[in-house]
Amino acid sequence: MPTRIGALAGDLIGSVDEPHPIEAQDFPRFQPRHRFTDDPEKEKPMKVIFHQRFYDVYTADPAAARGRMEAMVNALEGKYDFIEPEPASERDLERVHGRAHIQQIQREPLVYELGGLAAGGAMLAAETAFEGEPAFGLIRPPGHHASPHSCWGFCYFNNVAIAIRKLISDGKINRALVLDFDLHYGDGTVNIFGDSEEALYFHPEAGNRRDFLKEVERSLQSPTPYDIIAVSAGFDRHQEDWGGLLATEDYRAIGESVKEHARLRCQGRRFGVLEGGYNHAVLGSNVESFLEGLRD
Ligand SMILES: [Zn+2]
Repeated sequence: MPTRIGALAGDLIGSVDEPHPIEAQDFPRFQPRHRFTDDPEKEKPMKVIFHQRFYDVYTADPAAARGRMEAMVNALEGKYDFIEPEPASERDLERVHGRAHIQQIQREPLVYELGGLAAGGAMLAAETAFEGEPAFGLIRPPGHHASPHSCWGFCYFNNVAIAIRKLISDGKINRALVLDFDLHYGDGTVNIFGDSEEALYFHPEAGNRRDFLKEVERSLQSPTPYDIIAVSAGFDRHQEDWGGLLATEDYRAIGESVKEHARLRCQGRRFGVLEGGYNHAVLGSNVESFLEGLRD
């Protein structure tokens, strides 16, 4: 589909102040290894999972704000291969969420559509990582406050948990390590996995930068074996965001720690998905810094 690829690349470059109306029949089908970049010859060091529909403003909350995704795409575009996810199926959602919860979200069609696409983005990031290439899901709505039967905090479906359950259900992994460096505790992720064998959940909470990075290291050194590292990457703990703690370079250090431990412990398998992060002025450079550490 060369015309469509060209159109997407063009849309991306000129997209900052434009709304993104897309007709229902225009909803793109899944294109594995679909490139948005204008440089198809050059191999990029990792995959970024993104879809134009993530520009849509689906609610009035800060995760859905206009300009938020644009800030990150502007920082990453051209440096990484962008590939498009397809929406998660109801069956994928049901591995984590109850019927009543899914039906509740379905009453808001746009939220349901984008929630499913975000979950599909996390699944594609996990699958790409499992196959040996690091990946980042540049997705919204976020997911770590979504529990099996409820949600809050700008979240609807638990993207990371849906991705992990899919890998487990396919018999590809037994256990994931979840590193959640968002400012907020991922209660949804914890409610989903509880004390099960499926996931080890860590949420560093140290009050200064140095101890926070040490806590990240300690989490990754968990004596329990794991088969992949999934990062709930929220950037709202930055010095110029709500948490007021981490410097931009700290995200690179976190990404490097994840890479090193993935190489030592789980054949390099690692992926991240976007959670929070609300200051558009620093969000792009923070995500870029994290990916510089995480990439090969
Ligand atoms: Zn948060």
